[in-house]
Amino acid sequence: MPKVIKTKAQNFGEKMSGENKKTGKKTDAANKIEKAAKPEKQPKTKKTKNDVVKDVARKDKLVKNADKIVAVAEPVAVRFSKIYENKNVREILLKYFEEGCVDILPELNDYIGDEIVSNKKNMKAPIIRKWLNLMHDKSIVEFNRTKDKKTGWFTYFWKIRPDKVVEFTVSDINKEIEKLTKEIEEIKAHNFVCDCKTWTSTEALESDFVCQECEKVVMEKDDDKLIAEMENKKKVLEKKKEDILSSP
Ligand SMILES: [Zn+2]
Repeated sequence: MPKVIKTKAQNFGEKMSGENKKTGKKTDAANKIEKAAKPEKQPKTKKTKNDVVKDVARKDKLVKNADKIVAVAEPVAVRFSKIYENKNVREILLKYFEEGCVDILPELNDYIGDEIVSNKKNMKAPIIRKWLNLMHDKSIVEFNRTKDKKTGWFTYFWKIRPDKVVEFTVSDINKEIEKLTKEIEEIKAHNFVCDCKTWTSTEALESDFVCQECEKVVMEKDDDKLIAEMENKKKVLEKKKEDILSSP
């Protein structure tokens, strides 16, 4: 059985090098654009001022396009490749997964069998599989599987999806920010209070600033400190988001 795994793993290795080849191709394309962006030989005829302006604009466009191609050619696997090392990413992942589960992510840089992860981590394979499936439910890991023709059993090989880890954690932060924003709006709108509830200014005005239930005067309340604290929390979240998105 280990022999089979080795062979399959090698197959995946080949797949991965295929990707590198692809990258090579894209780099060639980028080189071509770079060449195209280089100054052309000066024509013998004199150029008018208008021609020069047009040339500059054309070259700018080429350079911009070259940037775009280079950006596309950069494999996602390189960007965010060590995303699990980002402390903000880890903090968010721990909201959803057990520590042991988050700790197997560094093993998944390249396709790896769950049995191997289990041996490396000295954890029972069913637990490892349970964790991998949980992370797969959130799309932050992917798998390839191979069928053993004799036994009909599948062997699963797992890999982290760094871009999806970013997407997942950033989306969690966005939800937190959205929740805070709504709460702040709510507090700002209900800026009057009696002994039993909060009121909007319109509600307070309509009831002549007296509550029928607790019979107390409806007073304006000062939420500035609370709102400032909440705004601050939002800023911290925005910074965490920036930190994740600029992760190497
Ligand atoms: Zn009241």
